[in-house]
Amino acid sequence: MTDLAAFAAHHGVRHYLFSFSDLFGVQRAKLVPASAAAELAVEGAGFAGFAAWLEMTPADADVLARPDPASLTQLPWQPEVAWVATDLAVGGVPLEQAPRLVLQRQLERAAAKGLHLRTGVEPEFFLLDPLADAIADTRDTGEKPCYDQLALMRRYPLISELLEAMEALGWGPYQADHEDANGQFEINWTFDHALTTADRHAFFRVMVATLAERHGLRASFEPKPFDELTGNGAHLHLSLWSGEGTNLFADPAGELGLSTLGYQFLAGLLAHAPALCALTNPVEASYRRLGRATSTSVASWSPSWITYGGNNRTHMIRIPDAGRIELRLGDGAASPYLLQAAVLAAGLDGIERQLDPGPRLDTNAYTHPPSEAEARRLPTSLAEALAAFEADTVLSEALGPEFCAAYRALAVRHRLPTVPATA
Ligand code: GLU
Ligand code: MG
Repeated sequence: MTDLAAFAAHHGVRHYLFSFSDLFGVQRAKLVPASAAAELAVEGAGFAGFAAWLEMTPADADVLARPDPASLTQLPWQPEVAWVATDLAVGGVPLEQAPRLVLQRQLERAAAKGLHLRTGVEPEFFLLDPLADAIADTRDTGEKPCYDQLALMRRYPLISELLEAMEALGWGPYQADHEDANGQFEINWTFDHALTTADRHAFFRVMVATLAERHGLRASFEPKPFDELTGNGAHLHLSLWSGEGTNLFADPAGELGLSTLGYQFLAGLLAHAPALCALTNPVEASYRRLGRATSTSVASWSPSWITYGGNNRTHMIRIPDAGRIELRLGDGAASPYLLQAAVLAAGLDGIERQLDPGPRLDTNAYTHPPSEAEARRLPTSLAEALAAFEADTVLSEALGPEFCAAYRALAVRHRLPTVPATA
């Protein structure tokens, strides 16, 4: 265990951000001076849970947040500050609804079977004018703006700073591009153990928003900021590994290089997709991203059907390469922790029940949508996804009754559109 005082002395850190991600994926933090960090790391920094998106009341005792030193991240743009993810407890008891714990619990379930999840995530984002809901770069108007070199290079000051920050942090960034919507970008970094990727995903969102502000921009990860343009996905690349570091999804003899275990996991994602959406697509706007085959640049690149294909981006799951699958369902509103927790719970069920996903579809799902017999449609509203989540007892048992009740209550109260009162 890294000693926070020693880390501060060695790295010139003057303050720590004791941070946690709440049920709606908002990053909360307290700034703790290095001089107090060692003591507070033991006691935990106190938060009023009701003041964040946690299902608690104003009368509840403090949530105490204790840092996990494995997540220590010195801010590359402000190295006297180090961010650290915390684990939450109330009255000495772990807070079961805490998203990071929900993911840790799934990782433990998998580890008990000798399975270790590794993931890579692709959080897309828009760069907007901070004072208007408009794309900041007024020259970025092309009909097919994807990979546009000029539009990318107009954002070089910010994008290169992000790449260099990620390099300094040892994340192994390897490419950045202008995505398919005007004003939209993506930066890719190397896949890793699931919890590491989730912590990095949480930090990435804060880092992009912070550095964008410093460049006079507003970063938006919202699922569908502009109706006529493709939305912000958070695609997840998945593989399960043995304790010895063998990729158990890889099998040269398997169809497209994917093992039977990989297909069972994939089948679990298909089986639980409607319920998964409650966590992977957690806001009403998520459903404006799903269910749209087209946008002005011709494709939405987001799924509408519960299908899988080979190296084919029109399906919910893509097998881009041997030994891994890409889930294209999640969006920018998903909690970095709950996204992976829900996906792992669904995949593990596929493995436990040895599910068979059936044949893949090699069609263009945008021009040739599957028939009702071939595939189910994804939910078309948050209400539908939350109902599927409530009905999916396998998923809710796996994720834990306390978390599921808390999440559902908050989502129904604060995220479902309110029914207008009838006269
Ligand atoms: N923006 C698309 C989405 O909402 C994804 C584009 C891509 O394939 O990178 O999922
Ligand atoms: Mg993308």
